[in-house]
Amino acid sequence: MRSTMMDHYPLTLVPILERAGKLFGKVEIVSNLPDKTLHRHTYADFYRRARALAEALHRAGLKKGDRVATLMWNHYAHLEAYFGIPVAGGVLHTLNLRLHPDDLTYIVTHADDRFLIVDDVLLPLYEKFKDRVKIERVFVVPLTGKPIPEGYENYEDFLKTAMGDFQYPALDEHDTLGMCYTSGTTGKPKGVAYSHRAVVLHSFAAGLAGAMGLTQHDVALPVVPMFHANAWGVPFVATMVGTKQVFPGPHLDPQSLLDLFEKEQVTFAAGVPTIWLGAQQLLEKNPGRWKLAPGLRLTVGGAPTPEALIRSMDRHGIEIIHAWGMTETTPLGSVSRLKSYMLDWPEDKKYAYRAKQGLPSPFVEARIMTDSGEEGAWDGQTMGELQVRGPWVAASYYNNPDATDRWTEDGWFKTGDVACIDPEGYIEIRDRTKDLIKSGGEWISSVDLENTLMAHPAVAEAAVVAIPHPKWQERPLAAVVLKEEYHGKVTPEELQEFLGRKFAKWWIPDAIVFVDEVPKTSVGKFQKTKLREQFKDWKWNE
Ligand code: AMP
Repeated sequence: MRSTMMDHYPLTLVPILERAGKLFGKVEIVSNLPDKTLHRHTYADFYRRARALAEALHRAGLKKGDRVATLMWNHYAHLEAYFGIPVAGGVLHTLNLRLHPDDLTYIVTHADDRFLIVDDVLLPLYEKFKDRVKIERVFVVPLTGKPIPEGYENYEDFLKTAMGDFQYPALDEHDTLGMCYTSGTTGKPKGVAYSHRAVVLHSFAAGLAGAMGLTQHDVALPVVPMFHANAWGVPFVATMVGTKQVFPGPHLDPQSLLDLFEKEQVTFAAGVPTIWLGAQQLLEKNPGRWKLAPGLRLTVGGAPTPEALIRSMDRHGIEIIHAWGMTETTPLGSVSRLKSYMLDWPEDKKYAYRAKQGLPSPFVEARIMTDSGEEGAWDGQTMGELQVRGPWVAASYYNNPDATDRWTEDGWFKTGDVACIDPEGYIEIRDRTKDLIKSGGEWISSVDLENTLMAHPAVAEAAVVAIPHPKWQERPLAAVVLKEEYHGKVTPEELQEFLGRKFAKWWIPDAIVFVDEVPKTSVGKFQKTKLREQFKDWKWNE
């Protein structure tokens, strides 16, 4: 029997934007500008400007599916791009401004970006690769108010080309809304293309009371960059429910964030543990300095959230909600909230549960696959690769037919995380199979570093591993075997300098240790587990 519902009504961003403009016009959107003055406007302004952007893009010749890249911090204009580009039928391609210009060149070229919207303060970064990419027009957001340099177009002037008669093109819910590239172990980033449908469904799930629980009464501040997995969907969810949005701009240090939290009485924020580890230290050192909103919640993910952080934030009246996700899962995959009957459990057990990665979201199915290729029992002990599937989980990478090994034959996505699931259904990530290091929430490819180190004439072998770090959670350490004739002739600093020619500064291993040999497996591969064990007591210089 066919339903009598309007099942063909497409799940796109259009109704979200329209509703926000019609119902929440008076609600504020606040952005911290580079000079730390606050830019304030409302959803009414946002609605008008997002539609003006869509119309201006049409007038500039944007065709359905054309990619429009953004190189921007979190602020009002990025929010306009989040909506204006997709409702025009374009594809919002957020570029990660922390990447090396070589990677950005690869990504922009691979995605075939046609237009670019860039912050004026980020133009120096764009200039490092602009001659290597083919972008048709570049619109510069004048965040500082300084004149736009010769050869670029002013974003504000571009918006003025709209006459106010924008008509939405027909959009299918399967059309691509945006894309994000994520690091692969080999260093060649891979593109994930999100459909309107995936983002809309994800917004419902992420907004649920059992997940972010955002309501119109909240004041939401995404610290997680809008170039990283759609800022975990916060801008979409917040706009859907009409939440006041506060954007940190380029000021991501804990003090600036706490100041902004206080000033705007933020009730909800999202970001990686590194940010909150720093904030927690400031709160401990300066008791009572910041009058934060009562009931402030932080969604923390992107890396494991230490139990000690959850405990200490509780003491400051700040609730941490631990979540797990990936660029490939739009990104929300699981959230750790206690079930009703767990509230009576002893404190220690409750904290242990809150520090797990949590229960899969509705519509995200999770399983673990053991090394022997069998599905692991949910006994809290059996470890295996975490695999997921669901309507906002990627089914392939964009234009990358070689990267199919991340999906199983029966259609599950292989996360590369090693986990166990307990009888209550809570996922706990224990390790990862992917040879990557996550420092302050951003990936570093150990394989890329190793290959470059081994291209140095003095280096016979090099293996790079992640070592726990109090601030960044993980930092790379390189174990290097020098060729005999170079013993005593090369310093770690020289090798760091050598790497600095190719990689962003934050990629460079903080420690390069000369060793006699790198432990290997029976088939001659570097045995990273053994190496990590060897350096488990490593102490970083503060
Ligand atoms: P990304 O695609 O950059 O968001 O990175 C996704 C990866 O980050 C996951 O596959 C995990 O390895 C890691 N990750 C994300 N959230 C968590 C978490 N809560 N705990 C542990 N690892 C996490």
